[in-house]
Amino acid sequence: MKFTVLTLFPEMVESYFRSSVMAKAVDRELVGYNVVNIRDFATDRHRTCDDAPYGGGYGMVLKPEPLARALDSVGAMDKKVVYPSPAGRLFTQEYAARLAEIPEIVLICGRYEGIDQRIIDLYVHEEVTIGDYVISSGEIASIVIVDAVYRLLEGVITPGSLQEESHVDGLLEYPHYTRPEAFRGRSVPDVLLSGHHEQIREWRREQSIVRTRERRPELLTRDGGRDGFDTGS
Ligand code: SAM
Repeated sequence: MKFTVLTLFPEMVESYFRSSVMAKAVDRELVGYNVVNIRDFATDRHRTCDDAPYGGGYGMVLKPEPLARALDSVGAMDKKVVYPSPAGRLFTQEYAARLAEIPEIVLICGRYEGIDQRIIDLYVHEEVTIGDYVISSGEIASIVIVDAVYRLLEGVITPGSLQEESHVDGLLEYPHYTRPEAFRGRSVPDVLLSGHHEQIREWRREQSIVRTRERRPELLTRDGGRDGFDTGS
């Protein structure tokens, strides 16, 4: 799978693709990436990529022309284009799994007040928010999305560990323990030391349900976890 990321700060995004598990996935050719500097598509002397908003108000907006040229340079009209934005639909595990089935996604990293609406109208398939808060960097939001998607690709992570994670079946994951058996007066639950696989499975399932009910009760009542995203590519 390939990730194409359009950004004003390519060094932020490139360093992510060159680190840790992602770097290994790139080396093994499970993941390809293309980081495009939007500024390379600005034509004026100062390589201007932002301008004041029509109608007045605070901040700057990413201009449409350099962004459109950058998008055209990667053939974005024929690809799945995602714009991370606090005004988007909530990015979920389910949507990450759907994106993982697409050969290439193009991400636009917003900055300042965001990007010109006409770019969204013309090119963007989905605006997604990584949560109900505002950060200053579309790069960080894009990296969150890429990270949630690529780890689902075959060969990146042991398949068993993906199946038991939070949000996969609408529940939060059970608690984990490792050695030592006792730590600062707190012991590992007996059942985990019992070697009885069926009881351990039941205990973990129960813990998942209790945690979800206590911390995120709305997950238990969601309509099958469906998030309303377009399933097409
Ligand atoms: N003025 C925008 C608003 O109120 O919706 C916020 C712009 S934010 C400071 C700059 C960029 O960061 C956005 O264009 C977007 O790409 C990214 N961003 C910020 N918060 C985000 C979130 N919760 N989810 C996804 N992207 C986000």
